Amino acid sequence: MRAELVDTFPAAGAHRAAAAGPPGADRGTAAEVRLQSLTKVFRRGGRRTVAFSDVDLTIAAGEFVCLLGPSGCGKSTLLRVVAGMLRPDAGSVVVAGRTVTGPAADRGMLFQRPMLFPWLTARDNVLFGPRAQRSRGLDERSDAEMGADADAILDTVGLTEFAGAYPHELSGGMQHRAAFARAVITRPSVLLMDEPFGALDAITRLRMQQFLLAMWEKYRLTILFVTHDIDEAILLSDRVAMMAGKPPALTHVIDVPLARPRVADSVDAAAVLATKRHIRSVLTH
Ligand code: ADP
Ligand code: MG
Repeated sequence: MRAELVDTFPAAGAHRAAAAGPPGADRGTAAEVRLQSLTKVFRRGGRRTVAFSDVDLTIAAGEFVCLLGPSGCGKSTLLRVVAGMLRPDAGSVVVAGRTVTGPAADRGMLFQRPMLFPWLTARDNVLFGPRAQRSRGLDERSDAEMGADADAILDTVGLTEFAGAYPHELSGGMQHRAAFARAVITRPSVLLMDEPFGALDAITRLRMQQFLLAMWEKYRLTILFVTHDIDEAILLSDRVAMMAGKPPALTHVIDVPLARPRVADSVDAAAVLATKRHIRSVLTH
């Protein structure tokens, strides 16, 4: 089962042990995320759109939660509020005990499009965040130290050979791995992902799901992952939080009773089916 993972990412982690610092140096400190009575309303030309209202959810440090619901039910908006890109109209987001007031490096975000800078190589894309942090006085590492860190992370995501490639020279899956590397190099404690694999073909998507699970095991981040794909939510998450209704709200949160590590072929088919039925019955009632 593990062989399947390794096959998919031939270079992943190959030189990691040698490059690693002290044990655990890879890992940011996963943070608890608390959404408290969270409400967001858009106002435009006298019209009010309630994106979602009164959302309460606590995500444990290191937990993987999928946010599932039909399009238009406020999932992306909720993620942007957690990222600090939008202010809530009521309620609050508390990450590691601190109320979110804006974007910060403790919360990384990944979108459906990898959003790499087309004029930078994969390596320079990965180094963009740390260099920006350094220019703000928030990272004191030398070029050599930052470079070594970027190379280690590129190795982890299986892109060592493509470090010097530009985004247009990378496949869709590679672009996502580069975007992932760029997001984790600043050691966020929370990763927010908005339908990140939605535009990929089915096979690449399966590979990226396995990649993400392997990375989550390695970095032990807290992940809030938006999807409208029930199978994806079941494969990935510890719990599925479902949004529905008018105005949209968080209606149900269900546990996914599957052991880890999860590889597509090894999951308990009966448990998957039961969970899928449960989710479908909730979504269609
Ligand atoms: P989802 O990601 O679940 O598809 P969104 O969060 O994108 O849903 O949108 C939720 C609702 O909020 C939709 O009705 C959408 O039209 C509205 N909305 C999203 N962003 C804005 C905005 N910037 N201004 C006004 N309305 C918005
Ligand atoms: Mg969306």
